[in-house]
Amino acid sequence: MTTPHPLPKTRPQWAAARRVVVKIGSSLLVDRRLGELNAGWLASLAQDVADLARAGKQVILVSSGAIALGRHMLGLSSGPLELEKSQAAAAVGQVSLAGAYQTVLRAHGLTAAQILLTLSDTEERRRYLNARQTIATLLAHCAVPVVNENDTVATSEIRYGDNDRLSARVASMMSADCLVLLSDVDGLYTAPPGSGVDAHRLDEVRAITPEIEAMAGSVGSELSRGGMVTKIEAGKIALASGTNMVITSGKVTHPLRALSQGTPCTWFIAHSDPVAARKRWIAGQLEPKGSVEIDAGAERALASGKSLLPAGVTRVEGTFERGDAVIIRAADGRELGRGLIAYARADATRIIGRKSGEIAAILGHAGRTELVHRDDMVLSKS
Ligand code: GLU
Repeated sequence: MTTPHPLPKTRPQWAAARRVVVKIGSSLLVDRRLGELNAGWLASLAQDVADLARAGKQVILVSSGAIALGRHMLGLSSGPLELEKSQAAAAVGQVSLAGAYQTVLRAHGLTAAQILLTLSDTEERRRYLNARQTIATLLAHCAVPVVNENDTVATSEIRYGDNDRLSARVASMMSADCLVLLSDVDGLYTAPPGSGVDAHRLDEVRAITPEIEAMAGSVGSELSRGGMVTKIEAGKIALASGTNMVITSGKVTHPLRALSQGTPCTWFIAHSDPVAARKRWIAGQLEPKGSVEIDAGAERALASGKSLLPAGVTRVEGTFERGDAVIIRAADGRELGRGLIAYARADATRIIGRKSGEIAAILGHAGRTELVHRDDMVLSKS
């Protein structure tokens, strides 16, 4: 592995990104023949993460490698594994994987945090809100979340199976500005690898058209090897969420530094930013399941950018679960905005009008301070 020749140009989408998700594929991290981690490469990545953190960026890693590491430790043969064997391998390998990240990040004074997610954790709003909140709390405490799919419990019908799409979901869930897919290829080519057609790498993609999809090859075909199909799927998720995505080679040491130095890659440029995309989703795409009526003090607090606390709510209506969208109304019935509510109706009814400090005593368990967090709320234009 060599460090690429530094080129001068940093993309503004990379330079300006405050929150980035970096996906690391197994083939970069694990020497499949020996079943060992590429320790030198991982150390170089940790150095890059530390540099980004020092530059004020929040970094979330999505790392594969559990199965590749664990299968060797369990003495499983090479080639495709049955589901239960890959799950067993993941259980073994994940321990080493998390430990390795802890060690390399600690060398730079950074704390690693392991997050294992299933498809339903990212698809169901109730669970999604929990995962989002936990990762946000870790970032606020300067920890580096290291995410992988929870392979040991995910069954074939309900698993991602690939970390390209998982990383895009994480980027979307966390409203990240940028998703970096470190790959064994340096971008998207105009024809699938090995198709015999003269192909060149695209510098930039602004919409995922059928032509772009065709460049990735078809699912399951030999030509789609290199996982371009799942990368394009990841691109669709990212662009819809206002997250820019870049595919670049991870087969160099310091791959993120290389990105800053203008290494070859393909950028997928989103039309809006993550905050606007999330607000559109909350305000326009979710059907409200109920409403909450708030007092004048809470109305002023919302207008000044604060969250909605239970104390300011006078009434709730409708049948909603935690994470559902609700309409926020003033005492005279005016719609003030919409948001995702942090409590189901039964619990919300018990805590409205009460101080947040009383929530644990009333419900018998600790809950969120806010009924609707300001990040989960869109105010109507007045
Ligand atoms: N979650 C799997 C692992 O850690 C990898 C999935 C992928 O390679 O995309 O081994």
